[in-house]
Order: sequence, then C-alpha cells, then structure tokens
Amino acid sequence: MRFFIFLQHLKFSDIHGHTELKNNLVSVIRQGRIPHAQMIISREGNAALPMALAYAQYTSCLDQQENDSCGKCSSCVKYEHLVHPDLHLSFPIFGSTETCDDFIQDFRTAFLANPMLTLNDWLKSIDGENKRPNINIRECRNIIKKLSLRPYESDFKVLVMWLPEYLGKEGNVLLKLLEEPSQNTLFLLVTENQDQILTTIISRTQFIKIPVYTYEEIDDYLSIHQLANADISRNVALMAEGDLSKAIRLAGEMENTQFEGFRLWLLDCYSGNIGKIISEIDQYADKGKEGLKMFLLYGIQMVRSALLIQHQSLENKLTANEIEFVTKLSKLIHLDNTQEIYQALNQAIFEIDRNGSTKLILINLSLKLKYSLRPKGQLKTA
Ligand SMILES: [Zn+2]
Repeated sequence: MRFFIFLQHLKFSDIHGHTELKNNLVSVIRQGRIPHAQMIISREGNAALPMALAYAQYTSCLDQQENDSCGKCSSCVKYEHLVHPDLHLSFPIFGSTETCDDFIQDFRTAFLANPMLTLNDWLKSIDGENKRPNINIRECRNIIKKLSLRPYESDFKVLVMWLPEYLGKEGNVLLKLLEEPSQNTLFLLVTENQDQILTTIISRTQFIKIPVYTYEEIDDYLSIHQLANADISRNVALMAEGDLSKAIRLAGEMENTQFEGFRLWLLDCYSGNIGKIISEIDQYADKGKEGLKMFLLYGIQMVRSALLIQHQSLENKLTANEIEFVTKLSKLIHLDNTQEIYQALNQAIFEIDRNGSTKLILINLSLKLKYSLRPKGQLKTA
C-alpha cells in the first residue's frame, strides 16, 4: 500500500479538493491584486504547502492558463523540481549555525516524495526527531540577503516559509522586509498554529484560510487513488477528521474495517464480560501500539456517531451495519455519560502514546466503559 501520492506537477489541479479556494486565488492573481505578504492558515494534512507552491508557480508561469499554470514552460518545470532561482524556501531546521540552504536538497527530496509532508515526517527525514526545530537568526539574515536581489527570471521573487511559528524572536528582523518589501517580492507564510506566531508578523500579513477537507473529499481521494476499499475508505474518512495526510496514513495501515472487532469488544464491555476481554487480551495487544490507537480512534467516531444519529441521518457516512450498531448504541450514549466515555477513550490513546502497557490500558478502559455505558438514568457507580 502506498502511503502518499506523487504529484505530477505543482499545479492547482494536482491538489485534491479546495476548488472554491483555488478559483479565488487564481482570480486574485489574474486581476493583478496580489498582496505582498500572505499568511496561509491551515491545519496539518490539508495540502497548505502544495497550495502555496501552486500559487507561486502560477504567478511565475510563462503561459498562464485561465485556471492554472501550464505545467510545461521553463518556469513550471523548474518549480516542479523546486529549483526555480526566484523561489526561496524556508522551513524549520535544527541547530543555530546552519541555514535552510544547507538542508535544501533534503527538503526537495522529502517534499517531492510526499507533498503532504508533516513536520514530523520532515524532521524524521533529517534525523531531527528529538531535536528542537526552529527557523534561526542566520536563516532570517539569509532571507534578507536573498530577497534584496532582483528577480532572476520571473516578475516576482517568492519566499515560501513553511511553519513560521518556529521563528523565535529573531523573526523580528524580518519585519522591515515584510513592511516595506523591495518591489516584486512575495511572502507566502504557511502556518498550522497561527496563535504561536509573533504578533508583529501576523499583523503585517493578509490571511488565506484553507478549510479542512470534508468527509466526502477524503473518501473521494482514497477511492480515486485506490488506497482503500469502500468500507475501509468510509471508516478512514470518518477517523481522519479532515486531515488528508492522516487519512492516507490510516488507509495504509488499516487492513480490515474496525467495525466487527469494535462492536464485539464494546458489547463485552457493556455486558460486563471483562473475564472474556482478559482471556482475549493478547488478540488486542497483537494489534500493536498504532493498531490499538486506530481501534480506539474508530471507537471515538462510533460514539460521536451514536450521538449525532439522534439528530441527523448518517447514511452517507456509515455502512448499513454501522448504522444499525450506532442506532442501538445511541440508547446508551447521552449527555450524562458522553464526556466520561470520550475522556476514557482519549486517555487510553494518550497512555498508549506514552508507551504504557497496552493490555493494562485496555482492561482499565473496558472496566470504565462497563460502568459508563448505561441508558440515561441508569448509571451505575463503580
Ligand atoms: Zn508554465
């Protein structure tokens, strides 16, 4: 199973979904109303970096089409390999003596192999998993130096900064540049944590918000690229909560739908069949850390669905068996116990992440659910 999809080009049409946003961006560029500093705000897994690059590529394309770059001109071809001389890339690295130029080849390789790259993927690829990522002062000075040059080939010099939240106070040296940029300079800052960015920088940019992917967009993506069969695709779309890179990863890891396993386990919890759960505990532990997390993540979605189904139809999101199950489950899930059930499931995921014993965590959780899963007015105490 592939974990990600290679982009053919860095065109808008290569980015899944987000149609309305792409149309808006194209029209702003075509009308020549390009703001010089923009903050692209998005959650992880939402194709924000490919969007920034497609935007930059379009501004530079020598044969702009009505809705997209041509993908063939010399500018597009250079963009496609992230080697255009007027494109400057900045991203979190570690240490204080290097600049992004020292990592640029690694970054090109990592991004082109996986355009849905997360910070974690990136750090892993440069053996920096346990190091503190940052965009350091040397990098800021390097940016100032690079952007003071005239564009080589295009009308614009473009700085795409991925995750400006990793700029420390040093980032303030960029303020003058953001405020009074030399002519034909574009700043595209791509953030996943707007709250952590220096306010001095935020206030000098215009915002582009990328909406999270919808359930349908994720389901479509998985089926178009044949990453999962229809049932798994629906499960994954539900569990990914709008994060496409998470959906791609889950689809790669999930061999079977979680439905039957989860239904039987929850039934055992409800019936207080803890002895049976303990006797079968190896079967759960065999799922491994990631597998068990996925099982519980699916559980959270089923609990959520059991609440939702009391108010809306979920027929386009769940299979017939799931509908039947969550309809029954909805009799046991209500405002008096929802919070503690969520908390118990989330706490278990948290503890698994902290490398607790999966067997003990699952037995504990089963016991908690035994008491929590009750019709309204019939909650037992432990
Ligand atoms: Zn072109």
